[in-house]
Amino acid sequence: MYAQVILPISRYESFTYRVPDGMEPSVQRGTFVAVPFRNRTATGVVVSLHTRSPYSGKVRSLRGIKHELSALPQDLWTTLEWISRYYFTPLGMVLKSAFPLGFAETLSPLREKVVRITEPGRQALADWPGRAPAQRAILELLVTAEDSLPIASLREVTGQATQVCQRLASRGWVEIEEREVAADPFLLVPPPPLKQVSLTEEQRDALEVVTRAARTKAFAPVLLQGVTGSGKTEIYLQAAQEVLADGGSVLVLVPEIALTPQVAQRFRAAFGQRVALWHSHLSRRERAWTWQELLKGSFSVVVGARSALFAPLPRLRLLIVDEEQEGSYKQEDPAPRYHARDAALIRGKHAGAVVLMTSATPSVESYFNALMDRFTHVRLTKRFGGAVYPHVHLVDLKAERQRREEYRLILSQTLEQAIRDRLERREQVILLQNRRGFAPVVGCNDCGHAANCPHCSVLMAYHKTSSRLICHYCGTTTAAPEACPQCGSPHIYLHGVGTEQVEEYLRERLPTARIRRMDTDTTRRRGAHHHILQEFSEGKVDILLGTQMIAKGLDFANVTLVGVVNGDTALFLPDFRAGERTFQLVYQVCGRAGRRPDKPGEAIIQTNYPEDIAVKAAARLDAHRFYNQILAERQTLRYPPFSRLVRLLLQGTHQDRGWARSRELRRRLTPLQKGMKLLGPASAPYERLKDHWRVHLLLKSSRETDPSGQGLHQLLNQRIPRGWTERSHQGVRLKVDVDPVSLL
Ligand code: ADP
Ligand code: ZN
Ligand code: ZN
Repeated sequence: MYAQVILPISRYESFTYRVPDGMEPSVQRGTFVAVPFRNRTATGVVVSLHTRSPYSGKVRSLRGIKHELSALPQDLWTTLEWISRYYFTPLGMVLKSAFPLGFAETLSPLREKVVRITEPGRQALADWPGRAPAQRAILELLVTAEDSLPIASLREVTGQATQVCQRLASRGWVEIEEREVAADPFLLVPPPPLKQVSLTEEQRDALEVVTRAARTKAFAPVLLQGVTGSGKTEIYLQAAQEVLADGGSVLVLVPEIALTPQVAQRFRAAFGQRVALWHSHLSRRERAWTWQELLKGSFSVVVGARSALFAPLPRLRLLIVDEEQEGSYKQEDPAPRYHARDAALIRGKHAGAVVLMTSATPSVESYFNALMDRFTHVRLTKRFGGAVYPHVHLVDLKAERQRREEYRLILSQTLEQAIRDRLERREQVILLQNRRGFAPVVGCNDCGHAANCPHCSVLMAYHKTSSRLICHYCGTTTAAPEACPQCGSPHIYLHGVGTEQVEEYLRERLPTARIRRMDTDTTRRRGAHHHILQEFSEGKVDILLGTQMIAKGLDFANVTLVGVVNGDTALFLPDFRAGERTFQLVYQVCGRAGRRPDKPGEAIIQTNYPEDIAVKAAARLDAHRFYNQILAERQTLRYPPFSRLVRLLLQGTHQDRGWARSRELRRRLTPLQKGMKLLGPASAPYERLKDHWRVHLLLKSSRETDPSGQGLHQLLNQRIPRGWTERSHQGVRLKVDVDPVSLL
């Protein structure tokens, strides 16, 4: 017998090995095995078994079975295979994306040495004799630190930090100890105290639906649509409680763990050490360690972002997809381009679990599924504790700009006055401007030249803090120009408004206000997010200004005003979901205001298009109306959920080759089957990214004629040569994106 084995290396293929006779009975799909690879022994996993060797070259034999790594849960295997099929990705690549690299290494948690100043040390510093500057510098740092510091972090003070600390320790001035490295920034602060909750009637009914379904141990998809602050999180904490008590395990997906620390913390508070966190800040080693512990059954809850879907949790009974509408659930690159919510539904189906999707503003797809009774629809219509929904005002920026004859209008009078009121009353403000940098466009007033990224067809944004132009797609930066690079004119203009500019404006207009900006640029350091939010929650900050990362999951009692500086930033992207995203963002951010009954909230949305349906519906907080309108629109245009969409994106450094391939692709795909439609080829809205030219085709297949999507898959499987996808073929790569989230 022969086994195809996948190895955790950066290759897509699987490898063929002979299974020695004695081992045959214990080798199955999903078994971890030791195999000879190059001149070492590697651990791999069996993906298929064959009676004849699928490989014509020389085949070596398996060395052994890794019994200590028990096989993956069956529901996970089936999900991985589904992903491979549905998203047109070789299983090897799926596994590579699902398993942490180094999953088979023997690992223990990382430890580090930390150092703390002692009382004698403090005294020694007080009357320091004026020698040994390195020792003194370290003591000075330690005296201001509230806690012990890792010795590694002192290397900035002196390259000899270890030796200097040892010398200090030998005199009794510091103490050195070893501790486990805190893998996640949330361990640095204690979790919030566990609240005693007694559910409201509405909440109890919702919980009942979930727990009743969980008890049957059968697949049940549930959409929990609750207004912000209605207690969705409380519900799924309680549901998790019951599932755990019954011996099941729980998987919680959050859009991006760094952005939703409060959800993760509430799970930690409720379930303590049984909770594993899975997020992008984990090192490769921490990831591999966590994964192994999961296989051993050391945890029963996993909270994590997209790829936590692949956590090898046994006895899965409840999958929670928090904020299910979030685009970050979709993996863009590399393949598999899977959607974690959809894959969670598949995993839930095979595990016999409840899949609980929650949102205040569900995706149009999920809303429609609930409407069609494919999901159980549970609603929470009231904010907890009698908190009322904020009053929302729309401000027409265009009109005000004309009236005040002020071209660079950043804050309307209404919003500015409202902020001043809050500052006076010592209440807090959240301001959303969903663009980072100072200005998104930099150009020349004389010749019209605009600064473009040299590698992308994307305008570069001006960042004043660093005085550079930055491409937000590839990260290329150049010095901010003093004169036009094309004609030499000194008349450079800036167009549009980013967070930096709003911050500058606020500081000018409200010099006493304490302002913090939260965007990609201010949160690069590990733990920075957390630090800003902590300061805000402690009342050390009056105005929290930021991009969409401030729109979600935050629950601060003293926030009574939310301002949207420009509600239209996403409205005109050439993407059929632009309206949906605008609605969701504006609606979500409004939900950050007035979270307590004693402090009603207000939201002010500035817009240039007060008549737009997405903006208007968000301002009315009228989800129902918005979904009705958008569904009608999608039906007319035959967009999802009324059709299935596949994007075929061709990328390469040669523009003409991409076009030639796209035309050939079109020829191969036609004639189409009934109910299908092929659009393009056309240049992608971002025609060039990172020096690659991009051409795409969109294939639509009606749900009526092909409800399961099988016809579509058949067509693509039959007509697209395998060698075209993923790897470059004659300088062109084809990326197949099923149910794409972005069409840019
Ligand atoms: P959502 O996730 O829907 O935005 P949360 O679950 O965060 O809402 O609830 C909002 C706030 O109300 C939280 O501080 C939460 O602890 C509190 N809360 C919700 N339901 C209850 C309850 N039944 N008893 C006590 N506090 C509750
Ligand atoms: Zn010029
Ligand atoms: Zn670029």
